[in-house]
Amino acid sequence: MYTHPIYHWPPKRQWTQKPSLAHAWGPFSAYVHFPFCRHLCDFCGYETRLISKASAEAFPERATSEIARRVESDDFGGGRLRAVFFGGGTASLMSETGRGAILSALLQLPSNARPEVTLECEPGTIRRAALRVARMAGVNRISLCAQSFSDKVLRAIGRRHTHAQSMQLLDDCLAAGIDNVHLDLMYGLPEQTEGHWARTLEAASCLPVQHISMYKLYVFKYGPLFRAGTVVRPEREPAGVTERLRAMHAAGNEILTSAGFRQYTLTEYARPGSESEYIASCFDGGDVLPIGPAAFGRCGNEVWENSPYVHTYGDADAEATHARALRMDATEAFKRDVILGLWLLSVRVDEIASTHGVEVGERLLSLIDRLRAEGLIEVRDGALTLEERHRFRAGETMARLADLDAGHWSTGQPRARAGTAEPSSGAERTTTLSTVLRMARRDPALFAALEENPDATLRRLGCTLRERRISELVRAITAEDIPGSEPGANEMTEAWSAVRREHAMRSV
Ligand code: SF4
Repeated sequence: MYTHPIYHWPPKRQWTQKPSLAHAWGPFSAYVHFPFCRHLCDFCGYETRLISKASAEAFPERATSEIARRVESDDFGGGRLRAVFFGGGTASLMSETGRGAILSALLQLPSNARPEVTLECEPGTIRRAALRVARMAGVNRISLCAQSFSDKVLRAIGRRHTHAQSMQLLDDCLAAGIDNVHLDLMYGLPEQTEGHWARTLEAASCLPVQHISMYKLYVFKYGPLFRAGTVVRPEREPAGVTERLRAMHAAGNEILTSAGFRQYTLTEYARPGSESEYIASCFDGGDVLPIGPAAFGRCGNEVWENSPYVHTYGDADAEATHARALRMDATEAFKRDVILGLWLLSVRVDEIASTHGVEVGERLLSLIDRLRAEGLIEVRDGALTLEERHRFRAGETMARLADLDAGHWSTGQPRARAGTAEPSSGAERTTTLSTVLRMARRDPALFAALEENPDATLRRLGCTLRERRISELVRAITAEDIPGSEPGANEMTEAWSAVRREHAMRSV
């Protein structure tokens, strides 16, 4: 049976908390989820619906407001924007001006010199002129959702586009001056033979594209393909089907690597130097800023999903009500970073443990030994490594690691990694005075913690305030007498009074 790799950890059923109102970002990428399509494909399980003029037009303004809210509440001082990904949905259906406005708002944040900016495009939904505008706005990479080069296979999965439109889109990208093009291809599709798959990859590898992904169709329970009985869920997969998938995986790898592509994640291949920063950021423990309904976010030890409701997107209260989150302790975050790190084919368990301030547990070491003895992984230079022969079964390896309770992943007292504004048991990231005040204004939990025990809370946040400034703020909070002649002390008292007034107004 083929087991899919784990994309998100911990599983979403555990995300039952409310997201923090403020975050302190490390190096991060931004994911913009445009949740509309012109047609719903039979294999798709993404959070999307049919596009309407009104909802599509409303999206950019709401997205830019969401970014503005983040700028007001969050601390971006410790991180830089690595990459932006416009996905969905069908991001190529968004208006050029809307996309430009969102990108310009994101690029106001502290950024790398030239962050990677990807626009995901469905063939047949965007023209050359629009691609030119996108390039001028900052888009420098296109993700071309071809899926297959066979029109028969495309029809069988309910796609609207044709192979000719995929090739037209590639031509248009190049003519518009965007030569960093990624092709999305899938195997395990209905009507797809091993011959189709090999021919698609052979043709793809000769094209002027820099990056190709090949991934196995995910069969959603009760989705149209499942209901039509054209594909089976992995748990009911006959052995012959698994062997066919294994052969397709191996053939794909052979074709792409022979053509000069290098595999750098479980599903991604790139020409040397064209590895995607956004893809790396999804699995290397970096932060992800989510923009749009149902977009997934991650900051430090917190993961969350924005509210999925399109009709209330932009309403901060509705967002706060329907978004769901999980704040992990250091051991759970260590477990997450190892499991997801396997996407990058090699992870150093000891380094990740050290990042999270935990000691690697004996039970984890025993499990690693067993996985190695069973031929599921290699341990090379101290790193868990998935060689080509291990990759088809990577999902199984991840599932075995996931099954080991987090309590067995480490020994000793974990040290929490910073990331949210919520008080935690320790902090690596430092926080400035203005950030503390801004976060306290937005986050009732932080406000309450500061009121209750300001000194300890400030220190846990890793404040870089000079000692005198800390004591001024502490005294302002505890309303102790502060020598009136000190301008700094008065300023602090006034600043904290403003925070208090804001919370008092909210609670009436
Ligand atoms: S275009 Fe993409 S997001 Fe939209 S339904 Fe098809 S596969 Fe899903």
